[in-house]
Amino acid sequence: MAGNEIATNENMPITALPSIKEILLDRSLYDAMPVNEDDLEAIDTLRRGNFQIDAFCIYCNAASIFKTFRSISNTVPKSIASESRASRQSTSLDPGYFGLNASCVRCSRSYTYYFLLTNLSFSKIGQYPSLEDIGSADLVKYRKFLSKADYAELKRASGLFAHGIGIGSFVYLRRIFERLISVHHQALANAGTPVPNFDGLHMDDKIKGLASVLPPALVKHRKVYSILSIGIHGLDEETCRKYFPVVKAAILQILDQDMARKELAAAEALLESEIAAIVGEVKSLPKLVQRANTTVPTPK
Ligand SMILES: [Zn+2]
Repeated sequence: MAGNEIATNENMPITALPSIKEILLDRSLYDAMPVNEDDLEAIDTLRRGNFQIDAFCIYCNAASIFKTFRSISNTVPKSIASESRASRQSTSLDPGYFGLNASCVRCSRSYTYYFLLTNLSFSKIGQYPSLEDIGSADLVKYRKFLSKADYAELKRASGLFAHGIGIGSFVYLRRIFERLISVHHQALANAGTPVPNFDGLHMDDKIKGLASVLPPALVKHRKVYSILSIGIHGLDEETCRKYFPVVKAAILQILDQDMARKELAAAEALLESEIAAIVGEVKSLPKLVQRANTTVPTPK
């Protein structure tokens, strides 16, 4: 990154490395990411530049923006960015360890990270707060809505994923997803409109059958979830880690929609009861209603 220009994920070059946001918030420790010369800018930004990302702050307990505040002299001068490949590699792609602090703009508390760059790969080797703490902070709002078992498994899934455990984390997520799908089908069945042959369907067809009660985005991209029909022995660590974020996002979307519907139903019930109370009062005051309905005579 040149000078004191602030980098964002949107203007990062497309490279083999994931976005800065993904590296900081989603990547497990010790997950070696291949690097090459195209990653110069991204590595350099992490190593000594300035950037900002959107992230959940576990201290504010709210969505926030995290920024680095490094002095301009720490960043690579613009001229170096245009130097020869050999020269650039000797400046920003030097193997070694480095760290960074990104601070919440709301409370000023920091998230701290440590990295190792070798000639072939780039790894996150330490961070505080842990990925598990950051990853599960946004789950707190679902605690009251989920059963104790589902909430515990959702947190456990996030924790295992944070430690780079693919199949184990995915199994927990899959159990929660399947239970949610089953609960939604049961609700339809209770209303007298069950999906025919539901138990025999593949997951993507189950999702299609439940289109009326599931988030539209989930229904639209249901083919992605056909992975949930693959037997556990057919899965590998990398595939599970790759699909974990989309399955978790689908679970949170379902929960968000269910919570919104429940709140709407509660608000409607409250309005109904308030209207009923007013109607009751009005009925008990017929003269008042009669008077209100008659034209007020113009004073002489
Ligand atoms: Zn904060």
